[in-house]
Amino acid sequence: MAYIQFLGAAGTVTGSKHLINTGDPSGKGGLQVLIDCGLFQGPKEWRERNWSDPPVPAKTIDAVILTHAHLDHCGWIPRLVKAGFRGPIYATQPTIDLCGIILPDSGHLQEEDARFYNKVNKSKHHPALPLYTFDEAQDSLQYFKPVNVEEGVQLSPEISFRFVRAAHILGSCMAEVSLNTNGQTKHLLFSGDIGRVRDHKIAPGKVVRSGPAEGETADLVVMESTYGNRTHPKEDPLPELAKLVTATANRGGSVVVPAFAIERTQKFVFIVKHLIESGQIPRMPVFCDSPMAIKAVKIFLKHDEEYTDETREMIRRYGSPLQWPGFTFASTPEESKRINASTMPSIIISSSGMVTGGRILHHLAQRLPDPRNLVLFIGFQAPGTRGFAIKNRLQEVKIFGDFVPIRAQTAALEQFSDHADPPELLQWLRTFRNQPAITYLVHGEPNASSQLRDLMTRELGWNVQIAQYKEKVEIA
Ligand SMILES: [Zn+2]
Repeated sequence: MAYIQFLGAAGTVTGSKHLINTGDPSGKGGLQVLIDCGLFQGPKEWRERNWSDPPVPAKTIDAVILTHAHLDHCGWIPRLVKAGFRGPIYATQPTIDLCGIILPDSGHLQEEDARFYNKVNKSKHHPALPLYTFDEAQDSLQYFKPVNVEEGVQLSPEISFRFVRAAHILGSCMAEVSLNTNGQTKHLLFSGDIGRVRDHKIAPGKVVRSGPAEGETADLVVMESTYGNRTHPKEDPLPELAKLVTATANRGGSVVVPAFAIERTQKFVFIVKHLIESGQIPRMPVFCDSPMAIKAVKIFLKHDEEYTDETREMIRRYGSPLQWPGFTFASTPEESKRINASTMPSIIISSSGMVTGGRILHHLAQRLPDPRNLVLFIGFQAPGTRGFAIKNRLQEVKIFGDFVPIRAQTAALEQFSDHADPPELLQWLRTFRNQPAITYLVHGEPNASSQLRDLMTRELGWNVQIAQYKEKVEIA
């Protein structure tokens, strides 16, 4: 009998891995396809699962279908290859391009972490080892196979799939899987992460097109529930943003923006350009301090088929962000240090988005003690991170072993999320052509998943269940 087994992102928002086994009608063992192969992140009890082998040996998995290039969906791929997987990894070309920078960077961070633990001798394991190295991540890239959006791919006589747009980040897709089982064709839809609805005021600054594919037909849906219990503010954030930046500049301060190097940084850079050119904020230097962000801009420019009309128009008018006058993309550590010397009001965008590491630490160490400056958050800050501490204005925060007083103004704009919220999800689900027999919710904290389940049951009358870790469900 064909089944799905949830090997991650069940009861939590990371580690997405859903295994399809096509069953064993011929007695030769079913084909095994993994939808996403993400890293567990966050609390230790989940991260430790990155180290255990999956219940299904990597060697016996025939293919991976990857929805998008976020680490919680792709970050375990190098480990899967290390454990013996040798099949194709299907993804869109922009996803493959982004994985080409994200996975080696992740390997590099794993190596640094292991080195750190060995130095302070903190690890239970001696010596501490990286989950995978930069070179192993690089090596895993050879298994990626590009697939066009809406192109059908036959994996075996029983199973085929195609990608349709998810509008979450550049290259992101949902996977529609068709499975022949017991003489019937079953349609399975794996949502990956679902982007915002088609409204640029609600989802401001979308560089990539907004709106997930509509009019889906499915017998079984595996769907994310990250924002199952939270709604995004619906006001246009640009007037508030312009006000905050202008006030900071007028008092001689700078704006420091912690942002993830991929997608969020590009989105914000386009918004700042728009505000400057339309005279809504003063013309001031903009520094984008992240080597990964530069690589990501190049990938964005390569894939203009994914742009919104507004973004296409801005590039037609102003050219590549890498050439915009007044915008500096810092690549080397020396270029990064030069930003610290800038005393005139400026905007500094740097990663990591939750201030857990990266070059943003230098900028905050220098600018947090000065009340003229503004630290602006445009992304979620998980409890326990430095970003969370700064956003909630604790008195001081530890950076490079020193306590830095938080005297700068802080502000947060919550509109920039790349996930649909419950009203948007309902709007999207109402476009389905049929009512799926069953929907499994994944990729959510327990409370978020259960609230979304209740909402979908009440508003749509759908049969919705919350996926459990390692649970096997039959595709009947
Ligand atoms: Zn994602």
